Amino acid sequence: MRKMKNIDDGTGWKIEKSKELYGIDNWGSGYFDINRKGNLLVTPNKGKNKVEILQVIEYLKKNRIKPPILLRFPQILESRISELYDSFGRSINEFQYQGSYKGVFPLKVNQRKDVVEEIVRVGRKYNYGLEAGSKPELIESLFFKLSPESLLVCNGYKDKHYIKTALQATHFRKNIILVIDQLNEINDIIRQSKKLSVNPGLGIRIRLYSRGSGKWVESGGEAAKFGLNTGELLSAIEKLKSNGMIQNLNMLHFHIGSQITEIRRIQNAVKEASRIYVEVKKLAPELEYFNIGGGLGIDYDGSKTSSDASANYAMQEYANNVVFTLKEICDEEGIEHPTIVSESGRAVAVYHSMLITNLAYEKSIIHNVDFEVAEDDSNVIQKFQGCFNEVTVKNYREYFHDSLEYKDELINMFNLGQLDLAEKAKGEALFYNVCQKIHRFIKQTGNESEEFDYVRKLMSKKYIGNFSLFQSMPDFWAIGQLFPIVPIQKLNRQPECVGTILDMTCDSDGEIDRFTDVMDVKEMLELHSLDKQPYYVAVLLLGAYQDAIGDLHNLFGAVHEVHVVVKDEDEWDIKKVIKGDNVSSVLKMLHFNRPGLVKSIESSIQKAVDEDDLNPLTAKSILNNMKKEINEYTYLDF
Ligand SMILES: *Cc1c(COP(=O)(O)O)cnc(C)c1O
Repeated sequence: MRKMKNIDDGTGWKIEKSKELYGIDNWGSGYFDINRKGNLLVTPNKGKNKVEILQVIEYLKKNRIKPPILLRFPQILESRISELYDSFGRSINEFQYQGSYKGVFPLKVNQRKDVVEEIVRVGRKYNYGLEAGSKPELIESLFFKLSPESLLVCNGYKDKHYIKTALQATHFRKNIILVIDQLNEINDIIRQSKKLSVNPGLGIRIRLYSRGSGKWVESGGEAAKFGLNTGELLSAIEKLKSNGMIQNLNMLHFHIGSQITEIRRIQNAVKEASRIYVEVKKLAPELEYFNIGGGLGIDYDGSKTSSDASANYAMQEYANNVVFTLKEICDEEGIEHPTIVSESGRAVAVYHSMLITNLAYEKSIIHNVDFEVAEDDSNVIQKFQGCFNEVTVKNYREYFHDSLEYKDELINMFNLGQLDLAEKAKGEALFYNVCQKIHRFIKQTGNESEEFDYVRKLMSKKYIGNFSLFQSMPDFWAIGQLFPIVPIQKLNRQPECVGTILDMTCDSDGEIDRFTDVMDVKEMLELHSLDKQPYYVAVLLLGAYQDAIGDLHNLFGAVHEVHVVVKDEDEWDIKKVIKGDNVSSVLKMLHFNRPGLVKSIESSIQKAVDEDDLNPLTAKSILNNMKKEINEYTYLDF
């Protein structure tokens, strides 16, 4: 392992600098901090009560729960739900809106029982409900005892079975609203409602011309996957009327995509939908819910811009825009203010979890080789030596160009058989030594020109992290989603290195090489050099979508999950530990059962014994070890 020189030797480094470097206050929404010791803190209530993450990890390790570990902070879910209700509450007061606000949590965003249980528990006092986008999600939602006032909204493509299940559930869940997402669903809904003699709440999802912005822009607009256009909307209303079910229509719904980065888009969509609402209300007198879907954006990079990883508005501004716009249009038409429903998922769930992984070791492109330059060494080697001796802070640009030229020469000469391996190694080492010097000079002079990106890259490291990006942060790979990453210790010291983070999979895509930054997207992250102590980093803001989408690439399974709550100022408690997958549980998902596996391995071992290739004692210990490994965590024991 090779250590880079600590350029400033930590002079004057303060935790404030770490906060700024990693952007903690920019994207953290008040949930994260650093203590004097330089350790990352979580403040789930944004108050005095805090958890030092390193303490939690050390405690868990003593109890044989080793990283990678997903930490969940259920109190953050509570804080987010209350912020959502408070924001709408404030807007409603400010604009003297006559209706109220009701939220539902879209299960698609995180269906984990342990997560939804918390959401339902803390949401009860707000009458917070659930949204299902498929039959399985509907059945999951029936597991939970929601408050009678809360809504259960059924979205998504629906066949006869989904419709029948939802309609039957209205017998014991009064609050179900079936949203018609496609016109062809309506016939089944009407027919089966009559057959089952139920009187369901119905909604219609409308297709708007307004689009969102950011990555999910295609979810909106006239070619969107879901929703009824104007003609379809009218024929749906007509059909309900002629079947005596128009009084069942109580919700108008739209959703123009997730992570809407521009507030203006939201305003436009609300305006368009409000106009439709007031018109439909004239035809369907029981209409009472104006459902604005999800899309409330999260500022992952802290830039407060309309870039994909950010949003140029905060929750309060979102609520203000919705309430104000809707009220204005309802007032113009003299229509009663509807109950506003929203299906914000990302905004509720995203902050509540983080992955802790240990960086096991670091790789540098450059390795030190012991050598001396002799008089009879080739000319090109002498030239490198000259560069090394003469390069200074004043002339490094010129020497950089020279040394690049010599490097080409070195490779050419080797390829032509004019140098042997030892000479090539010597030349390369000298070249890297020159680059190391140049790297120091570009840092000293604050030179940020792209010309030296090559040198910076050469000097960067690859840290090996004990996790799978495909399991724990799949959106990084799938859609280039950025997540903040911060070391959980040493934040009172200047990070000496920069590098990327490789995961445990054998996939070259398993590398985190893009990092959040207020001004830019960083290709390398500032990290500390590794020593004998474990070095942990947190990947943050993983609470939305990642649990649901993560996969078993290379058979790295679910990670350990731990629920942490704060009690008093510095007191925390572990509320729940859910062990991650072991080898056998992962293989089971692929239809290998444990007894079958053991039996097969056992018979191969037995065959080797029978053929005198293996003595029975060794055979026994091999089999015992295999049996033990089948029960172990899928990650590495670093
Ligand atoms: C995905 C989805 C949501 C959640 O969107 P977020 O951006 O996570 O708030 C809400 N409603 C519907 C219909 C969805 O498909």
